[in-house]
Amino acid sequence: MHPKKQLLDDAAKLLLAELEGKELTARERNQIPLQEMATQDPSERILNMNEVALGYTEAQVRIEAMRCLQCKTKPCVKGCPVGIDIPAFILEAEKGNYAKAVSIIKESSLLPSVCGRVCPQELQCQMYCTVGKAKKDVEQSVSIGRIERFVADYTREHGLDEIPHVGDNSGKSVAIVGSGPASISAAADLRREGHRVVLFEALHKAGGVLVYGIPEFRLPKEIVEYELEILRKMGVEIRLNYLVGKTRTVDELFDKDGFDAIFVGSGAGLPRFLDIEGENSIGVFSANEYLTRSNLMKAYAKTNALTPMYRSKRVAVFGAGNVAMDAARTAKRLGAEVVSIIYRRTEAEMPARREEIAHAKEEGIEFLYLLAPKRIIPGEDGRVKEVEVIECKLGPEDEDGRRRSMMIEGTESLRSYDTVIVAIGNDSNPLIKATTDGIETSHKGTFIVDPSTCATSLEGVYAGGDIVLGAATVILAMGQGRKAARAMNEYLATL
Ligand code: FAD
Ligand code: SF4
Ligand code: SF4
Repeated sequence: MHPKKQLLDDAAKLLLAELEGKELTARERNQIPLQEMATQDPSERILNMNEVALGYTEAQVRIEAMRCLQCKTKPCVKGCPVGIDIPAFILEAEKGNYAKAVSIIKESSLLPSVCGRVCPQELQCQMYCTVGKAKKDVEQSVSIGRIERFVADYTREHGLDEIPHVGDNSGKSVAIVGSGPASISAAADLRREGHRVVLFEALHKAGGVLVYGIPEFRLPKEIVEYELEILRKMGVEIRLNYLVGKTRTVDELFDKDGFDAIFVGSGAGLPRFLDIEGENSIGVFSANEYLTRSNLMKAYAKTNALTPMYRSKRVAVFGAGNVAMDAARTAKRLGAEVVSIIYRRTEAEMPARREEIAHAKEEGIEFLYLLAPKRIIPGEDGRVKEVEVIECKLGPEDEDGRRRSMMIEGTESLRSYDTVIVAIGNDSNPLIKATTDGIETSHKGTFIVDPSTCATSLEGVYAGGDIVLGAATVILAMGQGRKAARAMNEYLATL
């Protein structure tokens, strides 16, 4: 066990010995200290790609679960987009019934090991927790996500997960486009009803952003692979290197291949750029490309990488969301000496999770606030040499309630970089829309669906996840996949 984790475990075991078997009052529960989660030291972790957060030990998870007051009104459940019965699974964790805890979670969420790690809990379930509210500090809330992560890891590592029951062959077949969390959830729920389910993925690896976007140091890929293996064991067929819209159109999946219904979970993988001078220079990447090279093709493995990685010393990252943090922290691990996040607002407006910002800071990422890139200046060899930036100030709120950023003319200056990573957001890929007649989309290119069924304007075609919501979250994508599957199962029963 990692020495830091060992220390926390020793303390938790002592406390557990005191508390175990006692009828704890709410007051006593309130006094139990929040269990810290061990992390790799910053100096150690910037030299590897391994997971930063090391998870709870069994003693810690039981103590943390004891902090839950089992509130009758369950305010935390309101904060979970898929409505997991949080107090019920925490109670089972407190008793050490981890498999039971997981089965409660799985009634609502199929990917607890993933969501326990990457959900923005502090803005969802934990924001509503009575304990955090009483202490006027959301960080003091019961660590719902960490408990969820532990119980799911425990059942996986101890072989306690069961392959979901698959019903008798229904004679119907469903095509699923994409293999991210929306598609994984839809596939499982459709297969359970006995339909033939084929998942088509454009890339050579399944998992969507969970595999190609979120780095190993936040979400180990073996976890995603494990979930995909469960799908395979359920009989879901996964076809890789298959681009729907090119290899086969949506119409052809119906007419030539005989599918009865289609779920589109193609995500939001089209990177946005700033459209500034010099953005075509060598050494400018979208965060998507940069992260895909590193994650999917293991470009960080210097000796046996499947693709070369641009070697950088000074990296500028434009943007301040989770994707920007992931790109910056990846660049640091790939050996960059200076990595700067360049953001035109202040820390208060940054959309990234607080934990990710804190981790990035600990790892030595530089944060340059109230600064916007104006142009990228290449050297004679065409490679990035400098970035011209301009100072900004905050103005009134925009339509999203965030304070507008306004450039201050005459404050331009040059900063020296050899690499630029653009992480200012993603749009949906237009391929399916362009090759399918009759699919209604918004002005942003997202699919318009019936909010209660995820049905698109084309009969038999459903959609969910980022292709509908725009770049959103794993849990929301998963929730939509399940909602669509429910409606699709009803639709298929009518055929
Ligand atoms: P995706 O995960 O995008 O999967 C779509 C899949 O469809 C891809 O594999 C793609 O290759 C495939 N595809 C696309 N078009 C076709 C086609 N025509 N034919 C076949 N296949 C196709 N969310 C969080 O909750 N927490 C986080 O910490 C977090 N961090 C993130 C970090 C990064 C770097 C990124 C990019 C996103 C992050 N997100 C995070 C967002 C989250 O990952 C997404 O909201 C979620 O993955 C969306 O799921 P999805 O199933 O809709 O699509
Ligand atoms: Fe909280 Fe996310 Fe788990 Fe829901 S899925 S309980 S929001 S961590
Ligand atoms: Fe437990 Fe907090 Fe939910 Fe109350 S609000 S049941 S204390 S997790």
